[in-house]
Amino acid sequence: MNPYFSDKKMQSIRELNYIDAQKTACLFNKRFWEENADYGNVNGGVSFTDLIIQSIFYPPDHIRCEEDCSPNEPGVLIASYNLGSDSARLSNQSPSRRTEIILHDVERVHGTPPGYINSLVNSIKTAHWSNEQWARGGFSAAYPGQKINLAYNALLPEYNGRIFFAGEHISTKPGWIQGAMQTGKWAANQVALMFGQL
Ligand SMILES: Cc1cc2nc3c(=O)[nH]c(=O)nc-3n(C[C@H](O)[C@H](O)[C@H](O)COP(=O)(O)OP(=O)(O)OC[C@H]3O[C@@H](n4cnc5c(N)ncnc54)[C@H](O)[C@@H]3O)c2cc1C
Repeated sequence: MNPYFSDKKMQSIRELNYIDAQKTACLFNKRFWEENADYGNVNGGVSFTDLIIQSIFYPPDHIRCEEDCSPNEPGVLIASYNLGSDSARLSNQSPSRRTEIILHDVERVHGTPPGYINSLVNSIKTAHWSNEQWARGGFSAAYPGQKINLAYNALLPEYNGRIFFAGEHISTKPGWIQGAMQTGKWAANQVALMFGQL
């Protein structure tokens, strides 16, 4: 950028803390988690754990099924959803080791026989937000004091009112789509105001 934005804006851009996130989606040929009570009989919802995988999210599309919804259908499990430093600890493992760790932990949570769920895996894919080229972080999570010091200046336009800012990070609902939408509407209205459209 040349010239730089105001000092306060540059400080906001450089210092506002972002929390890391990791999700591993796993396509299983059969929904073992819906199969029987021994394996959980879970339908939708989430398991929070103290393991490196942190949490498991279950697809909710079978919750209201009256018929034709069998556990023998394929299903995608978010086999691991991490927030914070565990995201990097898990994602930085080699793909084969990461898969091994995740499947092992899912097996422990559901009490399935050793190797059973490995035989059901069709494909597996990890997203690690700090490594995503156009994100480089999950979502904003201000440290104590950062909202007071940075929030107002993060919102202000720059270059004499020619550049406006929007996004969850400058909203009062950081980390939520509502915050992104709210500030998006605000920025669009400011631009419309400038061009006399409002
Ligand atoms: C793992 C995770 C789970 C979440 N879960 C929820 C949830 O359950 N509910 C909820 O409400 N919110 C959730 N959120 C938050 C929500 O996704 C965000 O708040 C929202 O998407 C932010 O929207 P945004 O428009 O501010 O930014 P983004 O959606 O990040 O949009 C920014 C865009 O800018 C692009 N970009 C970046 N750099 C450049 C560049 N130099 N040039 C051009 N384009 C660029 C990016 O590619 C991206 O498309 C979650 C976020 C994460 C990471």
